[in-house]
Amino acid sequence: MSGALRTHARMATVAFATVVMAACSREIPEVGQLQPFYVPPAENVEIYALRSGDTFGEVLWPVMTANEQASFLMAFREHASPRRMRQGTEITLRYLRDDDSLRGVDVALTPDQTVRLSRDALGWSADLIRTPIYVDTIFASGEIEDVLWNAVVHNPALQTMTFADRNSLIDHLDRVFQWQVDFSRQIRVGDTYRFAFEREVRPDGSMRAGRLLAAELVNQRKPFHAVYFDPNGDGRGSYFDLEGESVRRAFLLRPLAYRYISSRFTSGRFHPILQRWRAHRGVDYAADSGTEIMATADGVIIERGWDNSYGNTVRIRHSNGWITRYAHLSGFRGGQSVGTRVLQGDIIGYVGMTGLATGPHLHYEMLQSGQFKDPLSVDLPSGDPVPSEDRMRWQEERNVRVALLESIPEAGPVRTVLAEAQTAESAGDGPVSSGGQQ
Ligand SMILES: [Zn+2]
Repeated sequence: MSGALRTHARMATVAFATVVMAACSREIPEVGQLQPFYVPPAENVEIYALRSGDTFGEVLWPVMTANEQASFLMAFREHASPRRMRQGTEITLRYLRDDDSLRGVDVALTPDQTVRLSRDALGWSADLIRTPIYVDTIFASGEIEDVLWNAVVHNPALQTMTFADRNSLIDHLDRVFQWQVDFSRQIRVGDTYRFAFEREVRPDGSMRAGRLLAAELVNQRKPFHAVYFDPNGDGRGSYFDLEGESVRRAFLLRPLAYRYISSRFTSGRFHPILQRWRAHRGVDYAADSGTEIMATADGVIIERGWDNSYGNTVRIRHSNGWITRYAHLSGFRGGQSVGTRVLQGDIIGYVGMTGLATGPHLHYEMLQSGQFKDPLSVDLPSGDPVPSEDRMRWQEERNVRVALLESIPEAGPVRTVLAEAQTAESAGDGPVSSGGQQ
C-alpha cells in the first residue's frame, strides 16, 4: 500500500515538473494543490448468489471451456463438494480488465470460509481462505420495562449488533441465569441487568462466537451474578456467583429457550406457562410448533413414540432415579432412538400439539423414583464450586470481571449480599432484600 502511494507521488512530481518546464518560457505559474489520480482496478467483478435449484455449473460453465471445467472442479473438490452448495452461496467471478478473461473465482462456502480459485498457465488451483475476525467486548446495562427480550433487543448500546446476534446474546443470558431467575415468569418491571460480553466479529459486523464474561441481574431487588471462570484454561469454563458457587444445576430449569416461550396468549385463554400442576402434574410451555426441545439433563432415551393422550412423547432416564417426559411433540430429532445417550441441552424433538392438546405447547414432567416432582420448585443438585486449589486465581479473575461491570456508565457498584446491609439505606432506591442464594 505505502509502496503504491510512493509511486503515485513520484509520478505526480514528474508530471508537475513537466508543467513547470513548459511554462518556464513565460513566467513561473501559480502552483495549486495537486489533483489526486486514481488507477482503475485491474479486474472486473461479477457476483452471483445461488438460488434454490441453481447449480454451480449454470453460473460457471458459460465462462469456461470443457477442459477448464475439469481442472476447475478438481481444484474446488479439494475443499468442498460442488454438489452440496447451500442456497445463497455467493460466487464472485473476477475478470482481467485488459482482455476480459476470467482470472479467479471466489466461492463463499460459509460466512467464515471462502474457496479462492485462481487460474494460471497450468490450470486452476484453489485455496481455502478463512474470514478474518476481531475480538471485542460489548458492555450494556438497562432497566426492564416489560420483558427482558424487549429490553435487550432495543438496548441502544447493542444496536451495532445484528438482530440475530442480539437474540443470540439473550440466549447466552438465559443459559447462564436460568437456574437463578426464570426470564419467562419471574422478571418484574424495574428489574435491571448489565453484562460484559466478549465476541468474535467478522468484517461485516456479524458475530461468529460470543461469551458472557460477567453479568448481573437484579430481580425484585435481589442481585444475581454470573462470572465466567475457566479453571483448566481449555475454553470450557463455567459460571459462578460472586462467592464462587456454581450457578449450574444437574437439570436445565426448562426444556425450551426463554425467547421461544410464547407470550401471545397472556391476555386470553392460554397463559404462556400453564401450571395445571394438580390436574396433570406437569408444566406446559406455549411455543410455536417446531420449536426445539432440549433434554434437561444427561441421560438415556427410554421412550420415543406415540403415547395416547401425551401424543408424540420422549422419556429420558437420568441418574439417581430421575425421569423426564416431553409430550405433544410435532416430531422427533433425527438420528436418535430408544437407548440413545443424550447430553444436557441436546435437541430431542420439536413442539407440537399431538395427543390431547388444545394448542401447540410442550408438556414437561419430572419424576424421581416414580414420584411426580414440580419442575418449577424441585430442589436440584448443584454443580461443583470453584475448586479450592483455583481459589486465588478465581478471586483475581472475578475482581477483574466485576470491575468490567462496574465500569458501565450509570450502573454503579455491583451489589453483593454482604454489602447490602451497609448500603441499603444509601442506595437511594430503597432497601435491598437480603438473603443468600436459595
Ligand atoms: Zn400439559
